[in-house]
This record gives sequence, C-alpha cells and structure tokens, in this order.
Amino acid sequence: MKTFERIGKGALLVTEGTLKYIQFECLNEYSDILTHCMSTRAGGVSNGECSTLNLGFSRGDIRSNVISNYNLICQAAGLEPDSLVLTNQIHGNGVCLVDENDRGKGFNRTSDIIGIDGLYTMTPGVTLTTFHADCVPVFIFEPGIKAAALVHSGWRGTLSDIAGGMADRLAGLPGYEAGRSIAVLGPSIGHCCFEVDEDVYCLFREKYDNDRYYKKTLDNKWKVDIKAIIIKQLTDKGFEKRNIHDCGICTKCRKDLFFSYRGDNGRTGSMAAFMQIKPQGASDEKRI
Ligand SMILES: [Zn+2]
Repeated sequence: MKTFERIGKGALLVTEGTLKYIQFECLNEYSDILTHCMSTRAGGVSNGECSTLNLGFSRGDIRSNVISNYNLICQAAGLEPDSLVLTNQIHGNGVCLVDENDRGKGFNRTSDIIGIDGLYTMTPGVTLTTFHADCVPVFIFEPGIKAAALVHSGWRGTLSDIAGGMADRLAGLPGYEAGRSIAVLGPSIGHCCFEVDEDVYCLFREKYDNDRYYKKTLDNKWKVDIKAIIIKQLTDKGFEKRNIHDCGICTKCRKDLFFSYRGDNGRTGSMAAFMQIKPQGASDEKRI
C-alpha cells in the first residue's frame, strides 16, 4: 500500500513499506502519459554511507546491492529496469537525445553516452535517469509534443548553463513550445546551505550579476542561490515563470531523507531522478 504525504512545495513523499520516493503534483497531472519520480535514501539494501537506497555505481557500493535498489525503486514507480538510460555525469553541459536504441545503456549494458549531464526524449518507454546528492535535478516536460528531459545541474553545470542548453536542444524538436513546458527543480542543496569561497562566487557573479542570488556569510564566504539562477536560465529561453516549480526541499537540511554530498562530507550514496514517456497502451493502473 502506498501512502502520500505533502513535502516542500508541490511535492509528495510516497511511502511503500520502507521505500520512500518523491513525486511532483504538476507532473502527476500528466500521469496518464508520464512516469516520474526521484528516489530518497530510504528503502534499499545498501549499508554504511550508502544506506540504504544508493543508486550510484561509483559510490563504492556493492554492485549487486545497487541493482537490487534499482529493482525496488523501479517496481514501486512502475518502471522497467531494462528501460533505463543512465547519464555518466561529468558536471558539464553536454546533453543527449535518446530513443529505444539506448534502453539499458549504463545499467545492464555498456554505454556510449559519455560526458553527458542531461538526457531528453520523445520516445515512449525510454527512462531518463540522472544522479544527485545535492546537485539540482531539473525535470522538464512539454505536454504538447510529449517530450521529456532531465538535467543534472550542480554548481559547475549551472555555471555552464546546462538548463538553458537543454532548452535550446528541446527547441529543435518539431512543434516544441517553450511556453508550454513545465519544469520542476527537485530536492537539492538550497540557498540556505550552498556556501562557496570567493573564487567560485566571482565566477557566478561575472555571469549572473544580481544581488538577489548571493548572500555573504559572517566568515566571508558566499551563499549562492543555484536554483534561482536555473529559473532565470529557463525563463531566458521562454519558459513561463508560473510553469517552473521549485519544490523548495534542501537535501542538506533533510539529510535524514536524502543523500547529501555536503551534509555527509562527501561520503554518501546517490539518489536518482527518473522520467519516462509511458509506452502506448500502458495501463493507467499506476495513476495516483
Ligand atoms: Zn539547507
């Protein structure tokens, strides 16, 4: 049995046994054609710093445990593990269009998707998968043409405008309208906790020169509002502000529920974000 609890802004914490994951209300409106979720750290089989639902193969975890964790989250979310396409994430701004030929890449077979931090598709039955432990997951859905995109935007990716780059690529799809697109900024490190030294602050200030993105701390460091910058990147590409939803959940403040790279001093597991255009004729039993 699944239970649903509101968390943050427009987000639901779904609990099924010990497994917990996040869904977003604005995307659930399209649950007849779209499956999406973001995992938490709860409900898996991994131990130690990867306790328990680690989905990262490069976190020092036992591979069979990671596979078991995928099977658990996929079953709960109504996704076929064979349909997953994984990014390999280098904190860059490379994005890649994927289709049915890419199913399983990086998960159960070797991948040629290399140096990629964002995936997008118009093909039903292909599950976009990105990894996060503080870095911002940006879920994008254009309901008119049924296109889905997922972006991993950490501070380096944000600085190199991966969200804007993804918007440019989506704009190349026939019939695409930015004004129709919905974006969700999932659980990630918030302005409350994302602190950097002067050098990184200067890199941001040079590109995004607006006082409201920055707060100086008492010990002369800077807090940067990464999510506000991503929202600007998307509105610059024609997204409507009202269609961009920041769930407002900070992974470091809620490290009880989420893996947090900074909250756990770099020794932590990885969550994953998932998005799939449902295969045609899929039953809607999984709707909530
Ligand atoms: Zn915080």
